[in-house]
Amino acid sequence: QPAIDERLLEGLNPRQREAVLYRGPSLLIVAGAGSGKTSVLTRRIASLLASGEASPLQILAITFTNKAANEMRERVQHLVGRATDGMWISTFHSACVRILRRQAEVMGMKAGFTIYDSADSRALIKRIVKELDADTLNLTPGIVAGKISKQKNELVDVETYARNLNTDDPAEVAFLEIYRRYTAGLRRANALDFDDLIAETVHLFRAFPEVAALYQRRFRHVLVDEYQDTNHAQYALIRELTRPIKPQHVPDDTRTLTAPDGSLPGASLTVVGDSDQSIYAFRGADIRNIVEFERDYPNTKTVLLEQNYRSTQNILDAANAVISNNFDRLEKNLFTTVGAGHPIIGYTGYSGHDEAQFVADEISALHSAGTPYREIAVFYRTNSQTRPLEDVFIRSGLPYKIIGGTKFYERAEIKDVMAYLIQVANPADDLALRRILNTPKRGIGPATEAALQAHADKMGVALRDALGDAAQLELGPKVTRAILDLGELLDEAEAQHLAGGKAADILLTLLSGSGYLEALRATRDPQDEARIENVEELLSVTKEFAKNNPDAGLLEFLTEVALVAAADEIDDDSGSISLMTLHTAKGLEYDAVFLTGVEEDLLPHRISSGEPGGLAEERRLFYVGITRAKKRLFLSLSMQRSSFGDTSVAMPSRYLQEIPAGLIDWRQSPGDATSRGGTRPRALNARGYAGGPARGFSYSTELPPAPPRVKREWASEITGKVRDNGDLTLAEGDRIRHTDFGDGRVVAVTGVGTKSIAEVQFDTAGKKRLLIKIAPIEKL
Ligand code: ATP
Ligand code: MG
Repeated sequence: QPAIDERLLEGLNPRQREAVLYRGPSLLIVAGAGSGKTSVLTRRIASLLASGEASPLQILAITFTNKAANEMRERVQHLVGRATDGMWISTFHSACVRILRRQAEVMGMKAGFTIYDSADSRALIKRIVKELDADTLNLTPGIVAGKISKQKNELVDVETYARNLNTDDPAEVAFLEIYRRYTAGLRRANALDFDDLIAETVHLFRAFPEVAALYQRRFRHVLVDEYQDTNHAQYALIRELTRPIKPQHVPDDTRTLTAPDGSLPGASLTVVGDSDQSIYAFRGADIRNIVEFERDYPNTKTVLLEQNYRSTQNILDAANAVISNNFDRLEKNLFTTVGAGHPIIGYTGYSGHDEAQFVADEISALHSAGTPYREIAVFYRTNSQTRPLEDVFIRSGLPYKIIGGTKFYERAEIKDVMAYLIQVANPADDLALRRILNTPKRGIGPATEAALQAHADKMGVALRDALGDAAQLELGPKVTRAILDLGELLDEAEAQHLAGGKAADILLTLLSGSGYLEALRATRDPQDEARIENVEELLSVTKEFAKNNPDAGLLEFLTEVALVAAADEIDDDSGSISLMTLHTAKGLEYDAVFLTGVEEDLLPHRISSGEPGGLAEERRLFYVGITRAKKRLFLSLSMQRSSFGDTSVAMPSRYLQEIPAGLIDWRQSPGDATSRGGTRPRALNARGYAGGPARGFSYSTELPPAPPRVKREWASEITGKVRDNGDLTLAEGDRIRHTDFGDGRVVAVTGVGTKSIAEVQFDTAGKKRLLIKIAPIEKL
């Protein structure tokens, strides 16, 4: 065992200690909520650093949110007592963007690629669906978006999809074509969608083993938190990163460490997770990744943690009772030594408003008794539940913050200004350019846009390149001038960016050059006042970013904005009550938790009942919510619920029945509420409101059939880049032209079919390796 400073291990129980100190190829820590999984991972990193076994450069830790990453980094630094520069602690997405920006060239992309958010992807899909008239086949943009995302999370690219296509099904054939055009559209725009970030990194590693080896050599310790919510692509990424390094990629100075065959063992891998908290199946998360870990990584050491340090026994008993109704799970016995604590409080409101009033009153009481607002959280299943809560909180003067609800970056004016920045970083992004072409108004109408687009298409260039040719298009002097001015402004900002300019300075150039703010000021519309403030806020964000990240340029800023996750907005120092969805609550903890809307159709949500495993997943969500509470837990519901202007009768959640009655102290039970309520339809009694909470309910068996085991599609290594090089074959001695590197001569070709790689000696750009299928090249 390594020599570790005892102070690093202080307070750990024997199992936790074992997990921190274990040294071996792979370690799996499975344990229930609040048992110290994240804490152990943090200490493990600290122990590797403090003992000198690893340098910060060799650590890659993956967390679920950027906020969790920052917290972990701070804790590690605190534990080892010094800076830990070069350590990668980040989300999957952030880590992949960093890799992809560095390696973009290898993949035939440019480092400034745009990260499409779901609205951008949706817009592209919508256009394609319309082009193909595909909604007649029930392929709506929403359905298509979900389906494409699913393929990417399973690493099924266009070619793999095509190979397994049922050609008798017109909807399948149409979907394939949409998928193909969507992929090509992203490529053309030098853009990646969210799912691509992971999938493309896996493709990169598989297509270019020497690139993978760079990262395999660097990251000798890979650690993943919340492993139960990894999807297949993320699983594959970890697999690639931790592979043994082939002899030809082993650096000379590490030869002594190699296996007999000359390879270097893969990185040590630590994963921690809790299958009972897997709540992202709808995004492709696959519990099997944790269940089958021991099979995939032989010689794995498994550590179980059973002591919970977060919650009181009452809260834990409720959580254990609920989750034990799920089948096919590892039985865990969480215990605590802190004692029973307060009973759980239950409340049934007459309306969502009444329920909100209960929450507000209890919060005021807790606050008066000494609980700070920042230690109080209110959870709900859907965002639509926030309205009554906000109404009451505002009236009661309670400070609150909606986590993930501000949507700052979704505001039109922010999207406009961001589109300017994105265009500068990625001139191939036509979508961004179309957004700003006539924003602010400069007289470029749809006809002019069409003329520019036609010119770009004819020349085979991006829309941005067409701007400079405006004079040739006979558009009239005024419009022509406006287009040329815009082109020049973008060029100026781009020069600033390429010279290493900061996002803040580039933004200033763009704002003053475009007249965006003046145009808003000129309207005297009070709405526009708010828009101006928002743009100014964005400017402060860029300045703040520059201050915190002195080395970061425009690309880093754009990455940060593209990846802000809901949970990142939580500000621990703020004296506010946190309101958030149950999904956002993962990994967090609060002294007092209010779980609202514990009703049928909300929790379980009505969309879940049709899905295989849906009710079990909703139960896990309830379990996650309960286990966030340290000392106080409040469960509330309402007899009626309004949504989208409709009011309907609500029923207590079936999950309430699963909590032993003695654990909940009902301030107003569903029974009390109905016996007093005058407005309630009579039929309700018969359906179970009379009597105790949710009593009298009987549901037919809710167990859905076991989901069929889906065959995993291991996508072939580098297919799917439908970059339309078709069957281009190259041989040694051929002359080629690359859009970026210019002309060159092929000196070698390796690999077959879609995996052929050409080694090209460029006349001016040096030697490069290119994937023939996808590289932007033509044969001369
Ligand atoms: P979740 O499943 O919700 O992610 P977790 O297993 O990651 O939970 P942590 O968040 O690491 O659990 O720990 C829960 C709480 O218990 C934290 O407040 C942590 O500081 C505390 N804790 C963990 N281990 C110990 C210990 N040995 N002694 C005292 N407190 C501990
Ligand atoms: Mg955790």
